[in-house]
Order: sequence, then structure tokens, then C-alpha cells
Amino acid sequence: MDQYGRRLTYLRLSVTDRCNLRCIYCAPQQAFSWMPHDEVLRYEEILTIAQVLGKMGLRKIRLTGGEPLVRYGILDLARDLAQLPGIREVCMTTNGVLLADLAPELYAAGVRHINISLDTLDPALFATITGRNLFGQVWNGILSALDQGFDPIKINAVIMKGINDHEIERLAELSTRYAIQIRFIEFMPVGSDSNWSEDRLVTCEEIMQRIESGLGTLTKQDSGPDSGPAAIYSLDGAPGTLGFISPLSNHFCASCNRIRLTADGRLRLCLFSDHEIDVKKVLRRGISPKELGSFFRRAVHMKPKGHQALENGHLGCRRTMSSIGG
Ligand code: SAM
Repeated sequence: MDQYGRRLTYLRLSVTDRCNLRCIYCAPQQAFSWMPHDEVLRYEEILTIAQVLGKMGLRKIRLTGGEPLVRYGILDLARDLAQLPGIREVCMTTNGVLLADLAPELYAAGVRHINISLDTLDPALFATITGRNLFGQVWNGILSALDQGFDPIKINAVIMKGINDHEIERLAELSTRYAIQIRFIEFMPVGSDSNWSEDRLVTCEEIMQRIESGLGTLTKQDSGPDSGPAAIYSLDGAPGTLGFISPLSNHFCASCNRIRLTADGRLRLCLFSDHEIDVKKVLRRGISPKELGSFFRRAVHMKPKGHQALENGHLGCRRTMSSIGG
């Protein structure tokens, strides 16, 4: 628990900074190098951290990246994490490129809840946004996840004015055909390379208006235990739902239950703050599980009350989303 009484039950764990896509709002756009392997948290280090946190009240771990499915040993890691005492759920956010092949094994490893990122249904625009011509592969990944029985399946779409905002209705319409949740996420100023500017921001309110005028009335649904910060709505008669995540226009800091661990083992207490605590360093120096528990207890005390993205000329944070994990 942090000093404001928020229970931190949810860890977003970036298992690699490597990715098979180069999304214009997420990954570095200039020439860059991946983190050296030795800098990345090792399998055993991740398990040690999760074991300690599981005993302290952590309940949910989301595997993210970079692209989590490109990390060597990810299926074993998911399975081992899911078996730790205290951990009730291991889920994943993926770009879906490798999902068509890996869905059965991922399911067998114990992952049930999967978020797949997809910002457009237009293959050419997909290639422009992600730098790779792989729309068909991602779409097959989504169909495989449905076949396999993952539940819930959520599609994450980041909406950027002038880039993919004309796709809002088409994306929303997917919820009338499939039992999935399409989640619209406000474009966030994360990473010095994100190409973010205020005039690219489309607020969730605008997105909802567009959907209502194109596709009909949105009816509010109970958010339920695993909707997180999303406000959930549905279109009449649709098997799926729509989620709206508005970290900028209507932030949810007061109920934030998240901590983040970057691929190089730094604890981030707020997505928008570059303040990081080096967990890998203390682990590699040698620390007992009990001491690691005390270290985390002291660390989470520093979680800020709210984020300051966009305040006082402060523009999000410098580290790219691809190395934080979203
Ligand atoms: N590679 C995986 C994927 O594509 O889902 C996991 C990592 S990715 C960083 C996690 C999520 O962050 C994705 O849904 C992505 O769309 C979202 N994201 C990245 N940069 C963002 C930004 N600037 N604003 C809003 N969402 C962003």
C-alpha cells in the first residue's frame, strides 16, 4: 500500500525492449540499439521479484514489452509466474504478430486474458503506423486468440488525429461482430520520440461522440473487476463492448493500483514520471527476499499522488513506451 492508501496489486512487467514493430508513437524512430542482454532482467530475477511481491499483496502481472512474445522463454515464464503464491492472474499485451502460432501454448501456460494492439483495419495504414506490412498476421493472431478461447480479449487502439481517427467507427463496429472489447486509448506524451502533440490528441469524449453519431447509442455497462481504468459501453445488440481510456482528459490516478518494471529492472511508480528505482542493481548486489520486500515497501511509498503530464509545460516522460511497456 502506498502513502495515499492505494493498494498496489498490479504489476506491468516489461520483459524485453525488443519489438518486431516500430510504431510511430511508441518505438524510437531514429537509429538506436537494443538494450544489451546483460542489462535485461533475467528469468530468475523476474521470478524472485514476483515471488516477493506476490507475498506482499501483488495479484496481477501483465507481461508486456517491447513485444513480450519475442522474449526467449516467455511461455515458461508466464507459466512459472502464474503458479506463484498470491498471483491470481498473468495476462499479456501483445502486438499479435506471433500470436497465430503461439496462442495454444500461451493458453496452455495459463494466460487467459490478452490485449492485442491494433490501431487500424486498413493494411496500408497499418504498415505506415507500425513500419511493417504485417496486418494479415496480426488479424490471424486475433482470430486464433478467439478460437483458442482467451477471455477476455481486448483490442487496444491508440487514436491520433489526422492519422487513424477516421478508423474509429470501423474499429468500434468490430464489437458488433465479435465478443471482444475494443478499447480506445488517448494518445499519450510518453517517450521523447513519440511524435506527440496536443493537436494529435483525440479525447475519449470526442471518440464517443463520433461512435454515437455513426453507429448509434452507447449504453454504459458495469465496469467489472477487470476493466481497469476503462469506462465500458456497448452498442445495441453487440456481443462485444467498447472501452474508453482517458489518462489525459480524465485521469484515474486516485484509483491507480499499478507499478511498472522496465526490461532493465527499474521500478516506475507512475507512467508519466521519469523517476525510477533500480531494482536490478540491488538484486545483483545480493539481497535476501526479506530485504527485497522492505526495499519495495520503502519504494512504493514514493508513488506520486497524481501524474503531471501536460502540467506546467511538463510533457509526459522521456523514456519510450516501448521500453516501459505501456
Ligand atoms: N508490443 C506490445 C503491444 O504492441 O501491445 C506491448 C507493448 S506496447 C508499449 C503496450 C501498449 O502501449 C500498446 O497497446 C500501445 O498501443 C500502447 N502505447 C504505446 N505508446 C503509446 C502512446 N504514446 N500513447 C498511448 N498508448 C501507447
